[in-house]
Amino acid sequence: MDECLASTLDTAVLERLEYLDRLVAKSDEPSRASLAKTEITRLADAWRALLKLHAPNEHGRCSECSGWLRPRRHPCTVWSTAHQHLIAAEGSLAAGVGRHAAVTGGPTAATLAAS
Ligand SMILES: [Zn+2]
Repeated sequence: MDECLASTLDTAVLERLEYLDRLVAKSDEPSRASLAKTEITRLADAWRALLKLHAPNEHGRCSECSGWLRPRRHPCTVWSTAHQHLIAAEGSLAAGVGRHAAVTGGPTAATLAAS
């Protein structure tokens, strides 16, 4: 993917998320209910597709995140982020995940794997 196309894609996705934020913040209750019917399914499908790409391979590694020299163990940052946003308590969202999470008190890959 060339840089221009990537930038266009990034902008389109971020603008869509901002649009959804505005709808949730400023629309009335029936509109939000209607939005939820369509967008929750779309967002759940998007998460499933993304998580499928980052599923562990036969060696327990994420093929998408692993480099030739540096294999990435499961769960990778995509799965950790999914867990953080979809499962963990709201209060821990600002704490972060991954190797720096131990310092901030957030979930680490080890704690996520144990849960
Ligand atoms: Zn991954």
